[in-house]
Amino acid sequence: MTDRIAVIGAGQMGNGIAHVFAQHGHDVTMIDVAAAALEKGKATVASNLERQVKKGTIDAAARDATLARLATSTDLGAASTAQLIVEAATERVDLKFRIFADLDGIAPAGAILASNTSSISITEIAARTKRPADVIGMHFMNPVPLMQLVEVIRGIATSDATTARTLALAKAVGKVPVEVNDYPGFVANRILMPMINEAVYCVMEGVATPEAVDTVMKLGMNHPMGPLTLADFIGLDTCLAILEVMHDGLGDPKYRPCPLLRKYVAAGWLGKKSGRGFYRYDSAPKG
Ligand code: NAD
Repeated sequence: MTDRIAVIGAGQMGNGIAHVFAQHGHDVTMIDVAAAALEKGKATVASNLERQVKKGTIDAAARDATLARLATSTDLGAASTAQLIVEAATERVDLKFRIFADLDGIAPAGAILASNTSSISITEIAARTKRPADVIGMHFMNPVPLMQLVEVIRGIATSDATTARTLALAKAVGKVPVEVNDYPGFVANRILMPMINEAVYCVMEGVATPEAVDTVMKLGMNHPMGPLTLADFIGLDTCLAILEVMHDGLGDPKYRPCPLLRKYVAAGWLGKKSGRGFYRYDSAPKG
């Protein structure tokens, strides 16, 4: 049985989540406040599907069928027929609280309200609704079509039934879900972000260049990419937001965001998506 899915936010995560559900036979509506983001999101799905066709992982008919199952809307009301809603809007507490309060009045009874948040409390998000048992974290990894993991985060009130349905939905689209409890940063970012932050401190303190830091971690620790390259891919604004949530929520100074990370974000150097972060993503040489 296929479910109707609504994905809120058509950015790098939202379009990847929409891609995966549509590819596995679900009707998906991507919803964003920005019409341009929807256009870009749909174009990204199309070009990623094209790459899969070239690699031989899907055929042209599957590509066309996937695109045909993908609708877009600038109206949150388009989520009114969805059995699963995955929110993947910008990582801001006020924004997510508002979206879930609005969804509470829009989503049909029994729908799962999931958030792809990297760090914001599922328990707090759920408390913005009158149906906290139906709210859960569904934390996909970037790039979504390629990465196997989905962290499934239970808020304090999330029901066993919601958790079981979410685990099943993730498995049905070829992912490996891992169940975790709701504490700031969950597991993935609780471990990843302090490493990225420490890498930024190494650059700020002149211990090493970004290239040197990344090479040490790639060749010395066998990581597929260095922490600063990864931070650029995630988005430095997102990294900063996650560290702030962990710093506030856990109250431990070890999560204090590095001042150089703040400075890059203030400058608009957000990583790959803005063309510059620890590296450059235009035609200029890296550095
Ligand atoms: P992004 O900046 O690429 O996209 C965010 C999108 O949300 C934008 O298109 C924006 O227009 C849209 N948006 C903003 N307000 C909205 C609203 N009220 N309603 C609908 N859409 C709205 O960000 P992203 O990297 O895709 O991150 C999205 C979420 O996924 C965040 O919660 C982030 O923490 C989480 N996440 C990110 C990564 C990563 O590697 N970037 C990994 C896992 C989870």
